[in-house]
Amino acid sequence: MQAKASSSRKVILIESIVLTLVFIGIVLYAIIFAMTKKENASKVNITYQGELLYSLPLSEDKDINIATSDGPLFIRIEEGGVRVVSSPCANHFCVNEGIKSKSGESIVCAPEGVGVYLIGGEVGEINL
Ligand SMILES: [Zn+2]
Repeated sequence: MQAKASSSRKVILIESIVLTLVFIGIVLYAIIFAMTKKENASKVNITYQGELLYSLPLSEDKDINIATSDGPLFIRIEEGGVRVVSSPCANHFCVNEGIKSKSGESIVCAPEGVGVYLIGGEVGEINL
């Protein structure tokens, strides 16, 4: 009886230590995340075969169609973000990237040579 009570107390102690560590971990993660939080981008540069095709504000919704050698690649600017809607590439990594809205983020479709780069919105932004 005595042994049983003491072992369940030990389990409770271990559980509370684990919970405390998990809590500390979550707090640290939140602090690090807040410190490294990226700013929302203000502009998007779209390149094809290394050449700048478009430099557009993210504030205006727009559909862009790039005629690649394999067919059209559709890019959509909406709600302050940008995504590749459809692409003739085989792997569709670019489409699976989903919507991007933070400065410094990018979507690259290597097979089609299309690059989507989010810029601006940073502190100390350099205007190119
Ligand atoms: Zn692609």
